[in-house]
Amino acid sequence: ALAAPAAYLAGLNPEQRAAVETLDGPVLVLAGAGTGKTRVLTTRIAHILASGRASPHQILAVTFTNKAAREMRQRIGTLIGESVEGMPWLGTFHAIGVKILRRHAELVGLKSSFTILDTDDQVRLMKQVIEAEGIDEKRWPARQLAQWIDGWKNRGLTPDLVPAGEAAGFGNGRGGKLYGAYQERLKTLNAVDFGDLLLETIRLFRQNPGVLADYHRRFRFMLVDEYQDTNTAQYLWLRLLAQTPAGERPNLCCVGDDDQSIYGWRGAEVDNILRFEKDFPGAVVIRLERNYRSTGHILATAAHLIAHNEGRLGKTLFTDDEEGERVTVSGSWDSGEEARAIGDEIEALQRKGQSLDEIAILVRASFQMREFEDRFVTLGLPYRVIGGPRFYERAEIRDALAYFRATVQTADDLAFERIANVPKRGLGEATMQILHDYGRRNGVPLMQAARVLVETEELKPKPRQTLRDLMTSFARWAAQVEALPHQELAELILEESGYTEMWQKDRSAEAAGRLENLKELVRSMEGFENMAGFLEHISLVMDTAEGDGEEKVSIMTLHAAKGLEFETVFLPGWEEALFPHPRSLDENGRAGLEEERRLAYVGLTRARRRAKVWFASNRRIHGLWQSTIPSRFVDELPEAHVEVVQAASYGSSGLGMSRFDRAQPFAGSSYATPGWQRAQANMAAGFKATAGPRRESMTIEGELVAKSTGTVSPFKVGDRVFHLKFGNGDVAEVDGNKLSVDFDKAGRKRVVDSFVERA
Ligand code: ATP
Ligand code: MG
Repeated sequence: ALAAPAAYLAGLNPEQRAAVETLDGPVLVLAGAGTGKTRVLTTRIAHILASGRASPHQILAVTFTNKAAREMRQRIGTLIGESVEGMPWLGTFHAIGVKILRRHAELVGLKSSFTILDTDDQVRLMKQVIEAEGIDEKRWPARQLAQWIDGWKNRGLTPDLVPAGEAAGFGNGRGGKLYGAYQERLKTLNAVDFGDLLLETIRLFRQNPGVLADYHRRFRFMLVDEYQDTNTAQYLWLRLLAQTPAGERPNLCCVGDDDQSIYGWRGAEVDNILRFEKDFPGAVVIRLERNYRSTGHILATAAHLIAHNEGRLGKTLFTDDEEGERVTVSGSWDSGEEARAIGDEIEALQRKGQSLDEIAILVRASFQMREFEDRFVTLGLPYRVIGGPRFYERAEIRDALAYFRATVQTADDLAFERIANVPKRGLGEATMQILHDYGRRNGVPLMQAARVLVETEELKPKPRQTLRDLMTSFARWAAQVEALPHQELAELILEESGYTEMWQKDRSAEAAGRLENLKELVRSMEGFENMAGFLEHISLVMDTAEGDGEEKVSIMTLHAAKGLEFETVFLPGWEEALFPHPRSLDENGRAGLEEERRLAYVGLTRARRRAKVWFASNRRIHGLWQSTIPSRFVDELPEAHVEVVQAASYGSSGLGMSRFDRAQPFAGSSYATPGWQRAQANMAAGFKATAGPRRESMTIEGELVAKSTGTVSPFKVGDRVFHLKFGNGDVAEVDGNKLSVDFDKAGRKRVVDSFVERA
């Protein structure tokens, strides 16, 4: 008798089931958004484990983000009813790469304790290389050269492989040499950059067939999500692992959607998915056509939009779901109004019982986020920012991390250099130069050089003493690494180094925020075994994890939203100057436009029930106000599935641009509906209130900071004030720009004075 099918297979449609159960040989699942590709991968792993075909450590599973890896791990656990902590090879290409590289570091000339540089460190290093080569940094900015190198690494090109003509095209014809010198500096520092995590592994595999053969035996099953966005290096890496010398058919399952290829600008090659069958002969190709995520209107809107692209395979998508709500398109006067209106809508949804976790705001460019963040802070609406290493990229966080790194990894020159004179302690350029010279001559790291030099007359007495003290501190902290819990150690370092104090003394407007961020940093170390584990995590974080359980609105870029889904999705900023992004059009022409359109498709298809497109008529781009016109993508939405909100006068002649009057969207009486009137009024008020200070902060930042030194609040105890979220109240205490207010309804709250006005 046939055994009853396992519970985890129930509910899959026949194609999905085939994709899960075809375990032998290569399988490609090529299917549109929301058809269950990721679910298939997850179930497939569960099936492999439950049927005993392999144990957890024999499965290689690649996700696009760390977050996706966490979720997959969790879901597999749920499916098979036991925890799968022991799946060491489930992660992003980078996370898996670093793991492999650490195990065999010596084979590629590294020590297993190597450091992973972030973009900033990379640029600093590049600067040094440029200097050493005597190249004019003004003509060849380090950042730009670092990007070139990244580009080559994405394409799997080591210095010797870069086409000569291409390398000659920059750095005064010395591009190839610079790249080589940069790689050498990395080795001396026992460091790698992100690109190396793959490139060095590829080299490792190529030069050590025995090691590769080990992994061939180890990885019985390989799975890759979001295959359409793999770049050449990732592809080469994967192919090395999948193709054995004996030519066995690999148990490799890749899933993807050519319409969602959105990382071309970072070297992703959608061709990888198209040539899968050629690379892996006998591959089974499975198509999934039923979308389980979105309602009819949303799916039809997305399908109509993406049909404007020429370079696509084309595929059928249907849903058995109801039509649902139409996709809405709304206009606002400016980006501030947009943030206000969306904030209001979110509060309304929340009142109707929608969880904030089910709401997302997807932006084209990360600068759009700040206005939402500000607005949500004002409203007291909890939110999280997903996808960017935003938090960890803040200057104070990077400084703090540099202290930790220099403590744990004393050869980390870049870290040491970053903070040697932060706070200012008189270790200026001259001193650092002496350290550098000594380090280079003797082939030792800076901190070691410092230890030697403080015992000599090389340095002037004052910096010598300062440096000696600093070295003593680092030695003391290093000695505590094992003894103290790492969170305590972190606080201790920030205290004793004077770093916290530096911000406490700082009178500038953002100092308080920076101190909060430092606290947050220490909080974020919770849950890691030790400092090294935490630092390793940081260097890999692509998405900021959240853990405190509170429901939150998610804010992220469209790029970061890949693979995710939400009940309600807001898509602000659908304007020509922003989306499609002008830069992608300039650089890549039609291909660029199509990639932008795929991004719009990704955005729309994140929504389960509600997709809400917004555009503003005025937006500040690069600090300047510009009047804008609705995106061509707005025009490409199908009228039958879209509802134009607020603009009642749009008429019924289709959703053409003309209806949004591209030249002058809000001029004339045709927009004189209450919504638009309100927008105009808000605009007038908003402009007066915001234009001044905004412009100031752009042009004379230094002065603005100086002016807010020792802020005196315009409010005093007893003043009657109004707060948008908490209503009316009386000021009970004034502390700089912070007020304690006894609100009539909400009770006592601490608020920032710029968020209240006189009642
Ligand atoms: P994307 O292209 O956006 O990454 P995807 O193809 O990976 O999408 P999934 O995220 O796996 O799609 O699935 C989309 C949604 O549909 C999820 O909520 C998933 O749980 C649900 N789903 C998938 N297959 C089924 C099914 N057979 N029955 C019920 N729900 C399903
Ligand atoms: Mg998916």
